[in-house]
Amino acid sequence: MRLSSFFMPTLKETPTEAQIVSHRLMLRAGMIRQTSAGIYAWLPLGYRVLRKIEQIVREEQDAAGAQELLMPTIQSAELWRESGRYDDYGKEMLRITDRHDREMLFGPTNEEMITDIFRSFVKSYRQLPLNLYHIQWKFRDEIRPRFGVMRGREFLMKDAYSFDVDAAGARRSYQKMFLAYLRTFARMGLKAIPMRADTGPIGGDLSHEFIILAETGESGVFCHKDWMNLDVLKDAPGMEDDLQPFFDRVTAIYAATDEKHDPANSPVPESELVSARGIEVGHIFNFGTKYSKPMNAVVAGPNGESIPVEMGSYGIGVSRLMGAIIEASHDDNGIIWPDAVAPFNVGLINLKSGDAETDRVCGDLYAKLEAAGLEVAYDDRDERPGAKFADMDLIGVPWQLVVGPRGLKNGVVELKRRATGEKEELPVEAALAKLL
Ligand code: ATP
Ligand code: MG
Ligand code: MG
Ligand code: MG
Repeated sequence: MRLSSFFMPTLKETPTEAQIVSHRLMLRAGMIRQTSAGIYAWLPLGYRVLRKIEQIVREEQDAAGAQELLMPTIQSAELWRESGRYDDYGKEMLRITDRHDREMLFGPTNEEMITDIFRSFVKSYRQLPLNLYHIQWKFRDEIRPRFGVMRGREFLMKDAYSFDVDAAGARRSYQKMFLAYLRTFARMGLKAIPMRADTGPIGGDLSHEFIILAETGESGVFCHKDWMNLDVLKDAPGMEDDLQPFFDRVTAIYAATDEKHDPANSPVPESELVSARGIEVGHIFNFGTKYSKPMNAVVAGPNGESIPVEMGSYGIGVSRLMGAIIEASHDDNGIIWPDAVAPFNVGLINLKSGDAETDRVCGDLYAKLEAAGLEVAYDDRDERPGAKFADMDLIGVPWQLVVGPRGLKNGVVELKRRATGEKEELPVEAALAKLL
């Protein structure tokens, strides 16, 4: 992508309406544009990152055996009356009436709809286990939308739903998602701690929230200090292995949200307890037959008996993750994208657009890098070097390749790693070889 034609409306000034750094940086980098309170348009740079995050989530769901489908955003109130949640859900639900006076709603979550799809087609225990997910926009009329995409009203969520014939199967489905979540967040360069959580209005008994520690987090959390230096995926099993020992080992290290933590009965002594703030990026639930019973989602068992299915649901805040990643990875100059979610792999900076030799070498590098499958932000704009450096740091591209007439006289270019600031001068071909 040539930045001379890329739609990336960066801001020089720090937007005053943004209270936390991720929100400020997303606005400054021209990634999002608020269109109403808590509702955002994703500009090209932001959308590139959103798709990368979404793709990692998708790959790990697929690897855990979940199957992707796509349910609509608009739902009928009818289904929510069946489960009894239509009245319970309250003001967070955006209710809509269509021209025939039918009550509709913009889905805040999809337990009812997936249960309806399930019961329409699945009739036998032989068709289980089943885990279905989608990545779809949700709407929750949050009382206080804030912090940019962190707490939006419209936001992108991955939600998966598991169906099993018995509690043992449901436990296994839960453990698969537990492992898939750890892998998902690790791939994004995040340290997410699974914390025992309240099940809230969704109900059920087994639940974990996946929390990124951050001062700007909205949740109060408590965990054993061993979590601080733990490589949780070291010696992790494969998806097809028995996951119980791994699950037991990880959940034995104390971690709980403040709703679950009881200071009077803390299993961890004060001296070993970390009290912190955190961002909830994922949440998994096992809720048994809470929906299958009232909605009559049953399968025939081996002896023809009718069995209400055991269910779980598993959410990831795909759009919130973008804010969480930036909170976890930035400096005074801007965003520092982990490689896996970066909008571009390489930022190619032309220090003197219009200089024939510099343009030629840059054009050649650009073509070769793109041909090798790398995504390149080529800054070919007619701007001062200082402005180009600042923008490239701001948008956080992991590698910067800097090409100017002075270096080229000596046959060298500069390669900079955004995360460490380390710079290296090296011949054009050597720089290329390092990036490929
Ligand atoms: P929160 O406690 O932050 O309000 P929640 O517990 O209501 O979140 P869940 O119902 O567990 O949210 O939804 C699954 C995931 O969706 C959350 O873990 C979070 O990452 C994301 N999410 C929830 N609400 C929002 C929101 N308003 N904006 C962005 N992401 C959200
Ligand atoms: Mg909420
Ligand atoms: Mg919550
Ligand atoms: Mg939650």
